Amino acid sequence: MKELLDRLIEKNKPLTDKGQVASYIPALKKANPKDLGICILDIEGNLYCAGDYDRKFTMQSISKVMALILALMDNGERVFERVGMKPADYAFNSLYKLDLPHGDKPANPMINAGAIVTTSLIKGEGEEKFDRLLKLLREISSNQHIKYNEEVYLSEKATADKNRAIAYLLKNKGLLEGDVEEILNAYFKQCSIEVDCIDLARIGIFLASKGRPLGSDEKLVDEEIINTSLAIMTSCGMYDYSGEYLAQVGIPAKSGVAGGVLAVVPNRFGIGVYAPALDQYGNSLAGLELLKDLSKELKLSIFS
Ligand code: GLN
Repeated sequence: MKELLDRLIEKNKPLTDKGQVASYIPALKKANPKDLGICILDIEGNLYCAGDYDRKFTMQSISKVMALILALMDNGERVFERVGMKPADYAFNSLYKLDLPHGDKPANPMINAGAIVTTSLIKGEGEEKFDRLLKLLREISSNQHIKYNEEVYLSEKATADKNRAIAYLLKNKGLLEGDVEEILNAYFKQCSIEVDCIDLARIGIFLASKGRPLGSDEKLVDEEIINTSLAIMTSCGMYDYSGEYLAQVGIPAKSGVAGGVLAVVPNRFGIGVYAPALDQYGNSLAGLELLKDLSKELKLSIFS
């Protein structure tokens, strides 16, 4: 396995030149566009890593999976009264359709509008929403050291006019309750949680084993919630590239604009990938190509 990963990193490394590091959150510009790393963890606990797998990066949209899980734990299916489950054919940070006369609720919890709704549905006042999400994430990944990156948080907060516009529109439509700035702060903080590929692989194994952290028999989350979250990752996790991704790679996954990708092979593997140079959709360019190759070599697609 290690040899395979080394080979695929070497093959895909040149593709890092083809993407662009995110710049709309100024602090993300500091990433090295040439980085490419991967870790794959099997259900028995064997870990294989290659490339720049030990870099730290912020979760960004990958945190939307945790917000969805916690919102479902707190509210059950009522979450879907405020956010849909359908793939969107427009950019992750779009306001599109939200302000139509009979405007839709956000299409799904993996785009910003939907994620701001799920974060708002996490129970707790003030810092409590974020604190509960961080606590859950530490348990899921069996890593008590995970914390958020203050610089990235402040950088996003200072430049988040579009997310702010989305959130106030949601409030106006009655889809968001409570203090908008407080909800946005929780959302920016969850996006700024810092991880590496090993953490993502551990989160992946938690999802792959239906709610049990690696090496534990304790179910932290109901299987039904995990299945719903995996289904939504599968259909919406790569935004408007989700269809192509599903055909080519065929496993549930979620990307973030810092370049991370969390991928899950149910009952088998948790995978963490990092490559901060992004494609036009805001997904890790070399990261997705690496996953395509890996999926072919190991026959990972859930349809194979
Ligand atoms: N924090 C980012 C934002 O709200 C997350 C987006 C992403 O990773 N695609 O714009």
